[in-house]
Amino acid sequence: MEIRMKAAVHLEDGKMVRPVIAGNWKMNKTVAEAVDFVSRLVKALTPRPEPEVIIAPPFTAIQAVAELLQGSPVRLAAQNLHEAEKGAYTGEISGAMIREAGCTHVIIGHSERRTLFGEQDERIHRKLVAALAAGLKPIFCIGETLQEREEGRMKNVIERQIKEGLNNLTADDIRRTLVAYEPVWAIGTGRTATPVQAEEVHRFIREWIAGRYGNEAAAEMAILYGGSVTPKNIAELMSQPDINGALVGGASLDVGSFVQLVAYQSIEGV
Ligand code: PEP
Repeated sequence: MEIRMKAAVHLEDGKMVRPVIAGNWKMNKTVAEAVDFVSRLVKALTPRPEPEVIIAPPFTAIQAVAELLQGSPVRLAAQNLHEAEKGAYTGEISGAMIREAGCTHVIIGHSERRTLFGEQDERIHRKLVAALAAGLKPIFCIGETLQEREEGRMKNVIERQIKEGLNNLTADDIRRTLVAYEPVWAIGTGRTATPVQAEEVHRFIREWIAGRYGNEAAAEMAILYGGSVTPKNIAELMSQPDINGALVGGASLDVGSFVQLVAYQSIEGV
């Protein structure tokens, strides 16, 4: 089976990779600001958008946002979780708590967690296992630094991150996992990977998944790109065969810009 495919192309068995537009708010927005954003988002996204839309508010806003999103197709993600089920981990939140608060997804391994909070591949793997056990879909982030790219180590780094992060996960786990390729040098810098640069890595990731889990699992996996995505560059990125979605930081904070990202298919030129 040919594993290269366009986003949202139907597979032989009728399934498809639905495009995904996910907004990572990081440590931004009070509960009141989050509620205001989501009220406006829900109105703007009628009728139901083609892409799957996910927003990741800070923990404090999750429950209020979940209540507003009842009956809406917009999904909720947490930005992190602790790998233990419960216990003496002051300041931490478990997968079950996140699920109960209304999340379907959780971001794991974001480069800010890796660099600012010292999370390494083995810990990220345990977080993936905990998320899956709690019934959450992980959005598993990987990506190289500028130095690693310039030293020609990009593929080694990406391979190590995938291999150690996914270590021993089953094919069923993989079916519930989304991967986000986020080159560290492109996050919050205004410096986006070119569509060709991003596609090269996405294809590499898909081929790695195919080699380990089979062509079907690879073809069905949503691989998102993240790193200074804006309404100006999203359409070209999404036109690449192996880019199935976008994980967006800065441009997801303004509701007008986020709605434009979700509507990328109507942007001229695609
Ligand atoms: C991110 O933090 O996941 C991200 C991609 O941020 P930005 O879009 O601001 O580069």
